[in-house]
Amino acid sequence: MINIVLFGKPGAGKGTQAEFLKEKYNLTHLSTGDIFRFNIKNDTDLGRLAKTYMDKGDLVPDEVTIQMLQSEVDKNPDSAGFLFDGFPRTISQAQALDAFLASKNQEITATIALDADDEILVERLLERGKTSGRADDQDEEKIRNRYQEYNEKTAPLIDYYNQQGKFYSVNGIGAIIEITERLSQVIESL
Ligand code: AMP
Repeated sequence: MINIVLFGKPGAGKGTQAEFLKEKYNLTHLSTGDIFRFNIKNDTDLGRLAKTYMDKGDLVPDEVTIQMLQSEVDKNPDSAGFLFDGFPRTISQAQALDAFLASKNQEITATIALDADDEILVERLLERGKTSGRADDQDEEKIRNRYQEYNEKTAPLIDYYNQQGKFYSVNGIGAIIEITERLSQVIESL
C-alpha cells in the first residue's frame, strides 16, 4: 500500500497530475478542495461554512478539514492506497494525518512537490479563472492571499516531511505528460 501526498502551491498542477496518477497506480484520489466545492454545490452546512473562507482565499479551519478528510478515508476501507491532493496544508493537519494513518497501521509513503515559480502560477490561475468558474481564481488579490496562506502555513510542511525523509520534489513546469513521467519516476523509486 502506498500513500502519496501531492504537494505544491495553488495552480502547480496537483489536480491535473492526480487524474493520471490515480489511474496509473490504482490510488484513491482525495482532493479537499474538490470535496469542499462538491459540498458548496450541494449547499450542505459544511459547504456553506467552507465557502466563507474559500471565497477570500483563506484556508478552511483545521478542525473542519481534518474531520472531513478522515471521514473520506473511512469511506474507502478497501483502498489500495491514497493520493492526497491539497491536504495536508498545515502542520496540524500533517500531524493529524500521521496519527490517523498510524491508528490504521499505515503511513505516508512520500510527499512529492510540483515545483514552480509564483509568477508563472499566478498567471496560470488567472487564465484558469476565465473558465473554471472559481471565484478564488478570478481575482488577483485573492490569488495573492492564497500564496500568503501557502507561504505562512503550508511551506513549513517541507521541513516536516524532510525530517521524516519523505520529501521529494520535481520540476512542475513542462508538458503534462513529462511531469507525470517525473512523478512516476519518484513513485517507482520508493
Ligand atoms: P484547492 O482546490 O486545493 O486549490 O483548494 C481551494 C480552497 O479550498 C483553498 O484555498 C482553501 O480555502 C480550501 N482548502 C482546500 N484544502 C484545504 C486544506 N487542506 N486546509 C484548509 N483549506 C483547504
